[in-house]
Amino acid sequence: MGEKMRAVRLYADWEPKPDFKLGWKDVDRKQTYLGSKVWRNPRLVIEEVDVPRPGPGEVLIEVKQVGICGSDVHMAQADEEGYIWYPGLTGFPATLGHEFSGIVREAGPGAFDKTTNQAFKGGEWVCAEEMLWCGACKPCADGYPNHCERLDEIGFNVNGAFTKYIVVPAKVV
Ligand SMILES: [Zn+2]
Ligand SMILES: [Zn+2]
Repeated sequence: MGEKMRAVRLYADWEPKPDFKLGWKDVDRKQTYLGSKVWRNPRLVIEEVDVPRPGPGEVLIEVKQVGICGSDVHMAQADEEGYIWYPGLTGFPATLGHEFSGIVREAGPGAFDKTTNQAFKGGEWVCAEEMLWCGACKPCADGYPNHCERLDEIGFNVNGAFTKYIVVPAKVV
């Protein structure tokens, strides 16, 4: 039985518009790069979820501050047909919140602090990139991680920071 925490999560229905075609990076019924063409009837819910555990190369951060971005508003806001306003990468349900800072509480094996080149010890004040770039695809290798072919985005298609704890790869901390 793990520890629980409350999280602000967004649910929406996968109801693609007639002109929507599943892109090669999309995952049917789960994730798309064209959010406003697919997700309908957004619902913000506060619910109990498990506190995540850090795996190899990851850190557990206790969230201390988190901003509300225009993207958060546009994911939760529907147009007159019920579709979300946000047009980009989205996968629901997900815990929202991507502009945050906090304190490292636990580090998985091999999670290094790039400011010291030592393992995270816990207690470090940190913030994180919102884009979880893979580091292995061609755009990443060419120095364009924002064009990553296997991108995840904190608070958009993976769980974000409108909650007490978040796990992220140490390389984006
Ligand atoms: Zn933002
Ligand atoms: Zn990549």
